[in-house]
Amino acid sequence: MPTPSHPQIRRDIIAACLDMNNTGLNQGTSGNISVRCNNEMLVTPTSLPYDETEPEDIVSMQIDGEYGAYDGRRKPSTEWRFHLDTYKVRPDISAMVHTHSIYATTLSMLRLDIPACHYMVAAFGGPSIRCADYAIFGSAELSENVVAALQDRTGCLMGTHGMIACGADLKQAMWRARELETLAHQYYLTLQSGRDAVILADEHVYEVRDKMKSGYGIWNQEPTQDS
Ligand SMILES: [Zn+2]
Repeated sequence: MPTPSHPQIRRDIIAACLDMNNTGLNQGTSGNISVRCNNEMLVTPTSLPYDETEPEDIVSMQIDGEYGAYDGRRKPSTEWRFHLDTYKVRPDISAMVHTHSIYATTLSMLRLDIPACHYMVAAFGGPSIRCADYAIFGSAELSENVVAALQDRTGCLMGTHGMIACGADLKQAMWRARELETLAHQYYLTLQSGRDAVILADEHVYEVRDKMKSGYGIWNQEPTQDS
């Protein structure tokens, strides 16, 4: 077997999967992660426990190649479509994290968008984090719904399913996944209070977004994946 491409990124993907499960962001093999390397997408395989996953198990797909074709000894995640379709239309995104984290999934079961109930919503690009319409996992319809919900955003909920966080690299996508779960938790708690959260005006959200872009920690870091 030829040497797999991008060995360090493969190891980074596995480390991120293990981190996601060890920190409670995901459970079992329900989540999946992908990273774009030029015209190649590296994605977690289907149904393989992360602690048994080796770099050779990460699956390679060509972003502009034959649709659905893959290279590797495992089949890609059943959710490969929404990863691949997003990369096709979003040059700003080079890593995606999908999880069934508890609070983001809870809001997705209520089919709620997350409004600008906290300024960190701005870290996802605009005044709300949308909830994509439901469609069965792995389907072209789900992928379409996800791409629509991600328009001008770097994260979304997925109706009655879970969430997606995106980034310019894997580190940024993982950061957003943790932030999205925290926001979902906080918004869920405000809903329990019986009072309405105060929602920031759009102009305040965009003000925060622009300030973050011009010098806010991880947002501003250069993408790290080049190996
Ligand atoms: Zn899922």
